[in-house]
Amino acid sequence: MASLLQKENSVVHQQVLSANSEYVKHFGDKSKLTIPPARQFAILTCMDARLDPAQYAGLAEGDAHVIRNAGGRASDDAIRSLVISHKLLGTKEWFVIHHTDCGMALFTDDIIRDLLATSLKTATVDENGWRNVQEEGGTDEARYISFLTFKNLETSVTDDVVRIKNHPLVAKDIPVYGYIYDVKSGSLIEVPEATKAGVAVN
Ligand SMILES: [Zn+2]
Repeated sequence: MASLLQKENSVVHQQVLSANSEYVKHFGDKSKLTIPPARQFAILTCMDARLDPAQYAGLAEGDAHVIRNAGGRASDDAIRSLVISHKLLGTKEWFVIHHTDCGMALFTDDIIRDLLATSLKTATVDENGWRNVQEEGGTDEARYISFLTFKNLETSVTDDVVRIKNHPLVAKDIPVYGYIYDVKSGSLIEVPEATKAGVAVN
């Protein structure tokens, strides 16, 4: 018998394919879009489901690169994408956008490593913290991963802008702007220290 979760996933699977069929009907002249982003910029932001960069930053298909990961962190892989974005695809300015109420502030490397060491199943959280719902099937592999958690939003945005700006593969004339997206209002709030660190040097 299929579990409830599998049943729900199957509904989602159908919904995605049906939404895509509708999208294709109105695809129009988007087939003419080219690879380089028309508006020549990139956004590095969190994967949080409440954030829709196309909506909060006014993007249409073909406009900009959006690089997303847990936290919107300037990981090695995010920087890999940004370097390609500029070097081969011509983006000229970048945004780092983290957000209020980010899940990355709700755990530490030690917490997720301990949870994964015991079980891979989705954990639960309450006033006593995170705990596993199952006590088998874990692995110590997470010891080798830095999850790039953070405690302070302004600091995380500034740290990431600084890391990007100081990276040897990043051209000095690319301005990097630092912002926090407010999940309660939808507004982008500048982190002045980050944007100052991200100023372009010609
Ligand atoms: Zn987040």
